Amino acid sequence: MVKGSNMLTAPELIDTHAHLDFPEFTDRIPAVIQRARQAGVSRIVTIGIDIETSRKASLIALENEEVYASAGIHPHAAGILAPRELELLEEIASRIKVVAVGEIGLDYYRDMQPRRVQVECFRRQMELAVKIAKPVIFHIREAWDDFFEIASEFAPCLPPSVMHCFSGDWGIARRCLDSGFYLSIPGVVTFNKALALQEVAKKAPFERLLVETDSPYLAPVPFRGKTNEPALVLHTARKVAQCRDESLEKVAAHTTRNALSVFGIHPPPKKQKDAKEPFASF
Ligand SMILES: [Zn+2]
Ligand SMILES: [Zn+2]
Repeated sequence: MVKGSNMLTAPELIDTHAHLDFPEFTDRIPAVIQRARQAGVSRIVTIGIDIETSRKASLIALENEEVYASAGIHPHAAGILAPRELELLEEIASRIKVVAVGEIGLDYYRDMQPRRVQVECFRRQMELAVKIAKPVIFHIREAWDDFFEIASEFAPCLPPSVMHCFSGDWGIARRCLDSGFYLSIPGVVTFNKALALQEVAKKAPFERLLVETDSPYLAPVPFRGKTNEPALVLHTARKVAQCRDESLEKVAAHTTRNALSVFGIHPPPKKQKDAKEPFASF
């Protein structure tokens, strides 16, 4: 190994969950992507939370080589899911570079929609994911029993899916892993008091770990309270490495491979200025 040869080369990472369409990033997306690249973040999945943001996410993905999108209706917006919205969502979720249905799920912590409405909205979108054979990005807070009951119904036909911003303890993590899901570790793992999440980051098998920012929220230490952005996923990966007593490179290699696999992203085309865009003909 040549000494110092990789001093400036950050290992490759993928931020599996960001909200690049949020107002915090208006007119700043190119700079945000540029900083991400400098931090080794080669790809970003930007997430829809309703019809409009899913549409924006898919457009941001088309405009930026490094960005992929998901389309879904968040439990906070569950009330909007009428048949017409489901049709619109299917159209967006089926687009090129839209790699998942999400974020969808149940949020009994905030309870911004009646629980039966959340459950109904979640089920319809699970059916959609099965229909179009795309993985799901789950948002689950304090709703584990209902979640596992519904998930087990769909598990046999659902592609491997992702528990985003994992917030449970090791017992819940175990159940997620047994169900075949990936655990996406957020910047919260860097917080001093996040001992349960640090335990999960330590014990979960490398084959099922992902890292994410949930930008613009939940910035990791030492940026806590500031606007989060994909470049900062590096701090989360570092903390995961520290929890496992492993190198950052190893965490990066596994989480990146997992993200490519779960979202069906192929290695990017070689950077040639006049190379044809692979999606230009669709
Ligand atoms: Zn979420
Ligand atoms: Zn989110």
